[in-house]
Amino acid sequence: MKFKKVAALLASGVLVASLGLVGCSGGSSNSQSASSDYTLVNPGTLTVISSEDFPPFENLENGEGVGFDIDIINEVGNRLGLQVDIQNYSFDGIVPAIAANSTADLGISGITITPEREDQILFSDPYFDSNQAIVVMKNSGITDVSQLKGATIAAQSGSTGSDWAKENIENANVVDYQEATACFAALQAGQAQAVSIDLPVAAQNIKTGYSDATIIQETPTGEQYGIVISKDNPGLQAAVNQALSDMKADGTYDQIYSKWFETK
Ligand code: GLN
Repeated sequence: MKFKKVAALLASGVLVASLGLVGCSGGSSNSQSASSDYTLVNPGTLTVISSEDFPPFENLENGEGVGFDIDIINEVGNRLGLQVDIQNYSFDGIVPAIAANSTADLGISGITITPEREDQILFSDPYFDSNQAIVVMKNSGITDVSQLKGATIAAQSGSTGSDWAKENIENANVVDYQEATACFAALQAGQAQAVSIDLPVAAQNIKTGYSDATIIQETPTGEQYGIVISKDNPGLQAAVNQALSDMKADGTYDQIYSKWFETK
């Protein structure tokens, strides 16, 4: 505990100094706002953690992160005049890591804004609307969620899809996987009868690798994704929100949206 506190203080001292320098160089285009009043774990860089197994939001292709979230966060970083360093991180570790405010500044990973998570961290304004889906193998004969009573359901550890299955499928044996992609592999291998996951990710996996699977239910949970920020860093929340709102106003958000999704 003590060590962490000292480290945090040291880090913020260094950061205040470096932000001062940035201010003097006049590099920031929105210096009139209070939004530059934030700390960074690595001065000059927006350090971001993401579980890069959630296409089309984030996925590793030839070792490089690609996806809607990746484009959004790179654009946010550009608008703040910062380098962006995206690190692959386990999904269920993102909120605790950002809460601790020492590993990374932001988490982006198709993360649904929930009251439970808001107890631990700040969210940006919502940047994407989502829902849940239940996926089964086409040849399973399963056409309705009621047939999944007592079945094994694959979900991503710590996700709202995992919670949904536990709460809504009677006697479900929900198996939590670290990687969302592993849920589909388990389904295909017969280790699970269904996957419970966000609808856009279900659709993308079926489209690109699992054409033998199908969505039997779309559940309108009305989830909204937010970028995760430490409660110690409200200035960064303000800066991220400003960047998101500017991107929406000038059409950049729409450009990124249509790059990854056919219709809005
Ligand atoms: N949107 C879901 C959640 O926040 C799933 C996110 C994910 O698995 N990357 O729990």
